[in-house]
Amino acid sequence: MRPARALIDLQALRHNYQLARELSGAKALAVIKADAYGHGAVRCAQALEAEADGFAVACIEEALELRAAGITAPVLLLEGFFEADELPLIIQHDFWCVVHSLWQLEAIEQASLSKPLTVWLKLDSGMHRVGLHPKDYQGAYQRLLASGKVAKIVLMSHFARADELGCSTSVDQVAVFEAARKGLSAQVSLRNSPAVLGWPDIPSDWVRPGIMLYGATPFEEAQSQAARLQPVMTLESKVISVRELPAGEAVGYGAKFVTQRPSRIGVVAMGYADGYPRLAPTGTPVLVAGQRSQLLGRVSMDMLCIDLTDVPQAGLGSPVELWGKNILASDVAIQAGTIPYQIFCNLRRVPMLYTGA
Ligand SMILES: *Cc1c(COP(=O)(O)O)cnc(C)c1O
Repeated sequence: MRPARALIDLQALRHNYQLARELSGAKALAVIKADAYGHGAVRCAQALEAEADGFAVACIEEALELRAAGITAPVLLLEGFFEADELPLIIQHDFWCVVHSLWQLEAIEQASLSKPLTVWLKLDSGMHRVGLHPKDYQGAYQRLLASGKVAKIVLMSHFARADELGCSTSVDQVAVFEAARKGLSAQVSLRNSPAVLGWPDIPSDWVRPGIMLYGATPFEEAQSQAARLQPVMTLESKVISVRELPAGEAVGYGAKFVTQRPSRIGVVAMGYADGYPRLAPTGTPVLVAGQRSQLLGRVSMDMLCIDLTDVPQAGLGSPVELWGKNILASDVAIQAGTIPYQIFCNLRRVPMLYTGA
């Protein structure tokens, strides 16, 4: 059997969820969109269900997968519905629904619904992706109330730059939000992971942690609260071949790495077809036989090469951690010019093994 696999530590997932609660003092929707950032949405939801205030996903397809697996907790659709004909299913399954556009508001006004909806009314406070314009916000709120089709409204917005700790954009966005919701007495939800970890003074009755649940930091620099996260996924494999090479020999596609000294090269069963980033360069950290070493040369589809020269105890069959509790996914991501969000979401082909259920 090919040794590549991802271990998912559900105990660490619960630890990180509790940290989000503790840091925010708020209710927390566990964001498990995109198959829980590649960690397996159903297994993660089951592991959190006893304690979670609810879940958030991107679309009704993801939400239905949770209900089909027997998850009865609240589930928020972060982009609401894409077509008005989703509304009956949203009602049937008691999904909570973001309203981010006036066309969605009109669709609710025109729908005949058997039960009232829970709406999370989204303001564009400056990110300029989705969300209602501040000038439309109070009017939309009043129209939802007047429609008689809404049981509860939560006021929400989303940050564009909360992961930049020295940047004042989040503070400006809060000011826009506060002005837009003036006089409305409803619960609010603003904070994503970087805001939960790094912006303690921003109010939120509900927080929406995603990446931090999986134990990865959203920040590029060290941050004290992010240091308390426990990595959930360990991506591991084994050395399947060892080469002894003199100095001056090229390794792998494109001869991107040439040995500078007599070297021992280990070949690991892990490649970009598993989701390991192809753009990770020579020098990207790995752990082999318990010791830190580095990637050498180009990542192939099914294999990659690592340096065993200074790891004499490593050889054929040695375990390799590509990321996990020793090699942080966020560090691999930085090397590859991406973010831990993407390297988790790209994971495929490897069997997933769950512990700590
Ligand atoms: C994905 C998402 C989140 C979670 O963001 P993280 O940075 O992973 O914590 C929160 N809110 C909304 C609206 C999202 O789309």
